[in-house]
Amino acid sequence: MTARPENGPHGVLVGGGGASGLLAAIAARWGGASVVLLEKNPRVGKKLLTTGNHQCNLSNLHLSADRFHGDPALAMAVIGKFDLDATLAFFGRLGLQSARDGQGRVYPRSYQAASVLDALRLEAEESGVETVAGTDVAEIERQGKGLAVTAKGGTRFIARRVILCTGGKAAPHTGSVGGGLDLARRLGHAVVEPFPALVPLKLEGAHPRAMQGMRWEVVARLLVDGREGGTARGEALFAAYGLSGPAALALSRNAVEAWSAGRRVEVALDLLPEQPETETLHCIRSRCLNKPDRSMEHFLAGWINKRIGQVLLKALGFDWSRPWGSLTGEEQARLARALHAWTFPVAGHTGWPNAQVTAGGVETAEVDPETLESRLVPGLHFAGEILNVDGDSGGYNLQWAWSSGWVAGSAAARAPEPSLP
Ligand SMILES: Cc1cc2nc3c(=O)[nH]c(=O)nc-3n(C[C@H](O)[C@H](O)[C@H](O)COP(=O)(O)OP(=O)(O)OC[C@H]3O[C@@H](n4cnc5c(N)ncnc54)[C@H](O)[C@@H]3O)c2cc1C
Repeated sequence: MTARPENGPHGVLVGGGGASGLLAAIAARWGGASVVLLEKNPRVGKKLLTTGNHQCNLSNLHLSADRFHGDPALAMAVIGKFDLDATLAFFGRLGLQSARDGQGRVYPRSYQAASVLDALRLEAEESGVETVAGTDVAEIERQGKGLAVTAKGGTRFIARRVILCTGGKAAPHTGSVGGGLDLARRLGHAVVEPFPALVPLKLEGAHPRAMQGMRWEVVARLLVDGREGGTARGEALFAAYGLSGPAALALSRNAVEAWSAGRRVEVALDLLPEQPETETLHCIRSRCLNKPDRSMEHFLAGWINKRIGQVLLKALGFDWSRPWGSLTGEEQARLARALHAWTFPVAGHTGWPNAQVTAGGVETAEVDPETLESRLVPGLHFAGEILNVDGDSGGYNLQWAWSSGWVAGSAAARAPEPSLP
């Protein structure tokens, strides 16, 4: 394929066919522009299929600034223009109904991520978005009053406006490897150094094999140089390398950021979050009094997960053959403390392939919040994870992708030709 002047004068080119790119393409098309969508993979939406354990947690009933990071103010401003109601109405128009769970998470009524992708793909196709798959955007330059996009291999596309929706660096096997961030840098944009978020944490010293794969409901506290850096309630999953599960993922953004900055980072797990430490100590004393002859090996059995309990007792150095009745008051207190704050030093994260989202990205001060158009390159817009906005787990990241895609796509369609300096 060679130059595509047929994309102008209203032509919008969308780079990247993920959640934000598909939304942007449809919004631009609905706004009356001719739209070309370039996707490097053979098909669009690979990451979407994997979201929410393949059920696609597409939004949340509770969209508030404290759920977003990087630039929460921009996130809320953009979501204000295409909020949950607008998102559900949009998907309703595409034939997709929604359902919500007890925690406010919104899913497709089918609970199938594939149905979200199908709805977007079909609408893109039916509305006349021209999708060119297997095409990797390599360069963007100004050309006259528009922009020229060169794909790997040399194919050139000319468009009046370009929306860059190439994602961040998380889950690179789905296609988002950070190439869009390099492109933005070459165009003069500052990029807040990306780091993985919603990612399992490596802990110092492997967990004993006995505990690997065990899950337990905890309150996890992050400690940065000994000071509290966040808490999360949820399941902890003990793995060979460290800790995963919702509680660990929720703390991972702050943990990774602090760890990358060379700070001392620890995670303290409360294994009995429903009761205060004083009550735990009382239980320990009663057990010692009631069954003084039982051996330590069984001390936590019937109270917490047996394997987790045994590993904790070993970690505290208790001799398994000792009778319960021999525990000193100081030992009882130490055990109670450990049950409420079993503390592990963080030794890193498990890397981009295991991350759900990218923290960092294109500096948001360099885009117009009304249109997500670059303040440096007229006619170029950004949407989705490529920007320095990320959200908590729970549907926030996809809501950002939908809202930013809509705002950029509809703005690109109605905008006049870019005014060049
Ligand atoms: C396992 C997993 C589960 C998740 N679950 C949820 C969830 O349930 N709810 C939620 O809110 N969020 C979830 N997320 C996060 C969410 O999927 C992302 O935040 C969202 O998909 C980002 O959308 P995007 O369009 O910005 O980027 P992406 O979805 O990454 O799309 C970018 C697209 O651009 C393409 N591309 C990249 N570079 C180029 C190039 N140079 N040229 C052309 N095309 C290019 C890629 O192939 C890709 O298709 C999950 C993420 C993962 C990894």
